[in-house]
Amino acid sequence: MGKALLTRKDNIVYGVINSTDIVSKARDIHRTSPTSTALLGRVLTGAILYSLIYRGTQPKNITVEILCKGPAKRVIAQVKTSGQVRGFIANPKADLPPRSDKKLNVSGIVGSGILRVIREGYISEVPIVSGEIGDDFAYFLYQSEQRKSAVGLGVLVGKYGQVVSAGGFIIEVLPDASEDEIKRVEDKIKDFSVSIYLSGGRSSSDLLNYLAGDVQPIDERDYIYDCWCSYERLIETVLHDETIEDNTIAKCIFCKKEYIIRKR
Ligand SMILES: [Zn+2]
Repeated sequence: MGKALLTRKDNIVYGVINSTDIVSKARDIHRTSPTSTALLGRVLTGAILYSLIYRGTQPKNITVEILCKGPAKRVIAQVKTSGQVRGFIANPKADLPPRSDKKLNVSGIVGSGILRVIREGYISEVPIVSGEIGDDFAYFLYQSEQRKSAVGLGVLVGKYGQVVSAGGFIIEVLPDASEDEIKRVEDKIKDFSVSIYLSGGRSSSDLLNYLAGDVQPIDERDYIYDCWCSYERLIETVLHDETIEDNTIAKCIFCKKEYIIRKR
């Protein structure tokens, strides 16, 4: 479970989440390498934050997809308005040695490609500009919705591959924001590592207060990694597919649950 918080202070909107539990669950299911854990975790966290800032007006189910030429190949994160989240990475073993600054080389396993967002009926996509994912979400928000934002996403992986902490923030600068307001935000996030901050046992509320000062959230929502696959949904999609035989075992790509197809 991860609690996402949203608030607005003057002309700045803040969304935050400590997504450690969600990313840990994703790692347990997909048995990801350290770099893949960081990539999948960042995409999941970014998708949650994006769904959070969409609430209020029109809640939407959201799919975020990275299609890339790097070894990770494809990453999917889906978020439902119920708060259920699930993810997938095509190559969970994609890994590279850490960068010279000891950080996981996430952009190295992404390479070039596109970031695509699907919200009930709308599909928008942008080229990958950084591969570190946070900046790619910010670029997407600016290109497709003309929203100026800073997005920070982080996953700290321990020496046994475990998820020590994960989380993120999205800070949207509204058109009327003053130079002083923007400067304050820039100072707060300069050299700030969200995963290291959260690794000290800090909560979503702590993160919100660090970024926005002493504020109350105007919206909060619990998110959980909880796949919504079912036999009924699966059989609907394969019933008329003649290449799939009776008694085939089908595995959900998001949670690895196995179903035996019985066409009769
Ligand atoms: Zn499933």
